[in-house]
Amino acid sequence: MKKTSLHFLQSHTNLANVIDEMAPDLFGEGFNKIPYNLFVEAVEQVPIAISITDKKANILYVNEAFSKVTGYQPADILGENESILSDKRTPRSVYYDLWYTISAKKIWHGKLCNRHKSGQRYLSELTIAPMLNDQGAITHYIGMHRDITQAYESEKRVINQKLLIESVINSSPIAMVVIDDKDRVILDNHNYKALVSDLDRGEPAGYFLQLLRDEMGPLWQLTQENGQGFNNREFKLEGKGRRKTRWFSCAGNWFVENEVNADAFFENTSKQYLILTITDITRQRRQMEELHIQSLKTTMAEDERVRSIRETLLGAMHQIQMPMNQIRAAEQLLKHKGEAQHTGLLDSLQQIQQSGEAAISTMQNCIPEILQTAVIPVNLNQLLHEVLLLSEQKLLSLDIEVHWCPLPELPTMLGSENRLRILFKQLIDNAIDALSTNESGEQRLKIATETDSELVYVCIEDSGPGIPLEKRAKVFEPFYTTRPMGGNQAGMGLVMAKEIINQHQGFIEIDPDYDQGCRVKISFPLHKQTAKRGI
Ligand code: FAD
Repeated sequence: MKKTSLHFLQSHTNLANVIDEMAPDLFGEGFNKIPYNLFVEAVEQVPIAISITDKKANILYVNEAFSKVTGYQPADILGENESILSDKRTPRSVYYDLWYTISAKKIWHGKLCNRHKSGQRYLSELTIAPMLNDQGAITHYIGMHRDITQAYESEKRVINQKLLIESVINSSPIAMVVIDDKDRVILDNHNYKALVSDLDRGEPAGYFLQLLRDEMGPLWQLTQENGQGFNNREFKLEGKGRRKTRWFSCAGNWFVENEVNADAFFENTSKQYLILTITDITRQRRQMEELHIQSLKTTMAEDERVRSIRETLLGAMHQIQMPMNQIRAAEQLLKHKGEAQHTGLLDSLQQIQQSGEAAISTMQNCIPEILQTAVIPVNLNQLLHEVLLLSEQKLLSLDIEVHWCPLPELPTMLGSENRLRILFKQLIDNAIDALSTNESGEQRLKIATETDSELVYVCIEDSGPGIPLEKRAKVFEPFYTTRPMGGNQAGMGLVMAKEIINQHQGFIEIDPDYDQGCRVKISFPLHKQTAKRGI
């Protein structure tokens, strides 16, 4: 190679020497050779800070980018050690690793804290490669570095923002989860993670998304397309075994994020995500439920008062009717005989009859009306749950074990909530009364709901003494009771129950195959128009 080093600055001379020593055949003319000047210009202008040192890191050559990054011109730095750039904040272990690697003839790559000529610190991303001679001995090192302070600061800022966002969402008392367009969980918080084990229904996000899609129907897609979001979608998760019933309120907001992968560099693509918040509102709902039960207790007490007046009056009318019939028969007999000496008796019989009829008619007028309520779609699970709560005190005091087995997604039926509540209260009270007479054995009350394509079923089963076979048809007759004292409803409870069931086109039977107590089976036609399932 023809040396023109005399015309170069000292650094270029050094570069020429190094190149000459390392690759004597690289430059010249012909195939596989590049012009020497072209190579020097390329190294000179490459936008990466390049330095070449001897074995002790004394600087022999720096390019233009090196001067730009470090602030040192070749005249300032040639002959100096690279340690001139050291900020001394870089831990010794990093230098140790650096030297350990390059001394072993390997390439070292890492980050150092450097000091600019002005004294300002910058973060350097540095690669050092050893240069070996023909004998494989290290003769020089080549260092290439760039200032990554800004990139590092932006990266740190993003990480800090992410940490901030994470700590904010983690401190939220609400379960939060970010879901992508394939229903995959991208980000969640502590409260969401707690739901995973609490609910035992797989991934809670998937479960709630299904409930939301079912409940919102076409509205779901509409809000998604418009990016509108939704609020206050409440769901009841029926308790099973030891798990108690819980209520949750869901809200969601969609947001669009531009893709950051290489595919999206020239073609802007984006993805839609959903931020779903799930709030446990069990406590609030329980409080509301307690208030509702309190008001139901008041209404039910009033209903019961009305019913007991009705039944007392009906009972009295029933009782009077019998002697009245006998008097009427006697009157007919006397009239038939037509004997004059009985005229006085006949008159007084007629008077008794008239005053009896007047008494019956007065009583008839005094019979209070049962309040009529609107016919609406009714979820029997909800109703039975309320009736169980109404009877909670009695059940606890008698130590009755309740097996509540609702079908989780029971279709609704059309009916009067008030009347149906009276019906189930009557049947459950009957079961409790039967269990209270049962001195030995287990005290068990089981209430289950079921459905098929036509009907909804309720089964109320107790482990009491049961109803003897011959009395099963009679219990639905007025004023018939199996209890010795008659009870406070004097045998009208099941009459009224049957009447309510008839009003709802339902059917009631005492299960003939059950001999462990009494099992009452009731069925109603389900509400087909809106056969949407309750939760
Ligand atoms: P030093 O006394 O220089 O070295 C600290 C430790 O490094 C020593 O304890 C020893 O374990 C090891 N060490 C030093 N010299 C040698 C050697 N010749 N052989 C084996 N081990 C040795 N440093 C920067 O801070 N910024 C840079 O940009 C930078 N660029 C470099 C580029 C090249 C090509 C090379 C070869 C080195 C570069 N260095 C750089 C490392 C630099 O030479 C110093 O080692 C470092 O700055 C620490 O300086 P010091 O004065 O604190 O300690």
